[in-house]
Amino acid sequence: MIYLDANATEPLRPSAREALLAALAVTGNPSSVHAAGRQARRMVEAARESLAARFGARPADLVFTSGGTEADALALYGLGAGRRVILGATEHDALRAAAPDATVLPVDRHGRADLDRLAALLAQGPALVCLMHANNETGVLHPIAEAAAICRRHGALLHVDAVQTAGRIGTSLAALGADSLAISSHKLGGPAGAGALLLTEAAAAALAPLIRGGGQERGRRGGTPPVAIIAGFAAAAEAPLEADRLAALRDRAEQAAIAAGAVPVAVEAARLPNTTALSLPGVAAQTQVIALDLAGICVSAGAACSSGKVTSSHVLEAMGLGPRAGETIRVSLAWNTAAADIAAFAAAYATLAGRLRRAA
Ligand code: PLP
Repeated sequence: MIYLDANATEPLRPSAREALLAALAVTGNPSSVHAAGRQARRMVEAARESLAARFGARPADLVFTSGGTEADALALYGLGAGRRVILGATEHDALRAAAPDATVLPVDRHGRADLDRLAALLAQGPALVCLMHANNETGVLHPIAEAAAICRRHGALLHVDAVQTAGRIGTSLAALGADSLAISSHKLGGPAGAGALLLTEAAAAALAPLIRGGGQERGRRGGTPPVAIIAGFAAAAEAPLEADRLAALRDRAEQAAIAAGAVPVAVEAARLPNTTALSLPGVAAQTQVIALDLAGICVSAGAACSSGKVTSSHVLEAMGLGPRAGETIRVSLAWNTAAADIAAFAAAYATLAGRLRRAA
């Protein structure tokens, strides 16, 4: 099986597995005052320090959550009171579903936020702006630093969903100039079940908790933290970035697909190094995904399928792709993707594209 769906979840990194297993051997609730509790607490605090340093916040301003979805929700509810919420049109459902009444900020045909429109919206009063650093379907990067400068000028807060950039390219709360940043363990090669919201000192002080519980995480997120998962999360985040290697392999996959008739999405925009979205004219995305799956290759559709019903991707539609939105698959390379995997993908894609297009 060749796994090219890393944007859904990355394979577990060996360093993360090792840290996870070592921490599973430790008994203790980090809130307990005895030696076992203190040992568990030391593991959580070491992970907090390492993740905070890597992603540009103070350890005291990092809140562990159950994953990216909860980190996004915490930012939205915790910082949004009294503010109008503005969401990029291509945001993940983690934010869209949690803020159905939000004002939608359009994107251009490359999938990048319309910054003139942002400035116009911010002139209308206090706001919380939520933008993703990279899009999960296309890999397109928003101009976050520019958006942050506009938000600052208008006194708006900026939450950045960095779930897809963390572990792939440099991403940092401080460097981006955002007020909060969401990251997720399983998207960077750690175990599923943990994420984090990193905040500036001011945003952390203003944050309202979503879950109060027993006052863990300095009262910002109740619930006993999953010590072993958090240890694995931090270990995975320490892995060196491999953007150049992945971009070279991704480009090879993309060129092979183009030669077989594919049209790639948003190649002119700055993108994640591991991601390409490929349209095959006339062939439904689900058909392509199933055909590739039968050939032993795991990719995903740009269009989401729920209860047997294929709905077109809101991301590709917001970019104005029209019917292409239903004919586009996502190929996302993992930290362990090798040249041989790309060669196998290229061969399978060429065969399938020819067959499917003749049948269409
Ligand atoms: N944000 C983005 C951009 C994502 O791609 C995802 C997952 O697909 C999430 C948030 C949600 O993260 P999690 O799966 O950790 O809840």
